This record gives sequence, C-alpha cells and structure tokens, in this order.
Amino acid sequence: MTINQINNNLRHDEHLDFAVRSNIIDTAFVLSTNRNESSSNPNVHIVCGSDEYRGQRIIEYSPSCIPACPKETHDQECLKMRADSCLEDSFLEAAVAAAESVQGSFFDHYILDIDCDYFNTEKSLYPESLEAFKKLIRNAELISIALEPECVKICRHEGCQLTSREISERLLSIIESI
Ligand SMILES: [Zn+2]
Repeated sequence: MTINQINNNLRHDEHLDFAVRSNIIDTAFVLSTNRNESSSNPNVHIVCGSDEYRGQRIIEYSPSCIPACPKETHDQECLKMRADSCLEDSFLEAAVAAAESVQGSFFDHYILDIDCDYFNTEKSLYPESLEAFKKLIRNAELISIALEPECVKICRHEGCQLTSREISERLLSIIESI
C-alpha cells in the first residue's frame, strides 16, 4: 500500500493514533464537538469523563455546551449555541485549561491542526473576539488545515450551507491577519 492509499482509508482518529504510536507526536489533545461514543481505543482519555487519566497519549475534550450555560440538561438550543461559539474566547480558554489540567506543559510546543468539519454554522467563523484563537495560532510551531469536504457537509447544521473551501478561506484570512 502506498501512503496515499493508506490516507484514503483513514477515518476518525487513526491519524492521531498512528502519530502518537510512532512517536511523531508525544500527545494529542482533541477539541471536538462530536464525541466518538463508539471509540473503544484504550489510548484515548476523555476529559470530564468518569475514567481516571492513565497516561493515554490522546486526550479528548468534547464539552456538551458553552462554559456559561446554566442549564442542567443541555438541549437542542445548546447544540446550536455550542456550534456558534466554538471559536469564542471563553470556549477555547476552557479547552486550553482542560488540556493543561491533564498535561501542564502541553502548549509549550504544539501543532495546531484545524479540521474544517469543526465548523458547523456560519456564525462559528465570526466570534465576538478572536483573541484566544489568534493566541493558539501565534504560538503554534505548525498549523495544518484538514479540508474534509464530505465531513463538513455531514456535520453542518440544518440550514447551513458552509463548504470546506469557504471555511478554509476564512481560516487563512484570520491566520494572515496576524
Ligand atoms: Zn447548555
């Protein structure tokens, strides 16, 4: 198999799993809006889950809502709010704190890998403030953007017409503005 064939067969977190197993990277922190419930990978630690951290090298954080939501049970409205807020300072700052709670030195050296399917609403690309996101960009050793056009279509919310091309262009314009 060539590397391209292997890449075409990869789904979900296999890239990260391969990268940590082969020591290309030390630890991966995944901020996700879609928790992979079916994942039984023992190498993945879910932050805020019931399990204790056992030194896993993939750490996943999938908050069920925005940090300020007062509701005990998060509903459909929350899903929309969380999607709209995924670049907001408070949302990213909570994620950074979650990563640092597991590994204090996590942000000393990191690659920022942005998947376009992280963005599920138009509003998500235009937060009130971009300071936390810009800080993540500024301090990254490398930035990669995964286009995943099909995943963007599958994950986007009803009524949202975003494409991976529009998302990547917006991300590039933010990066270039720094
Ligand atoms: Zn909520």
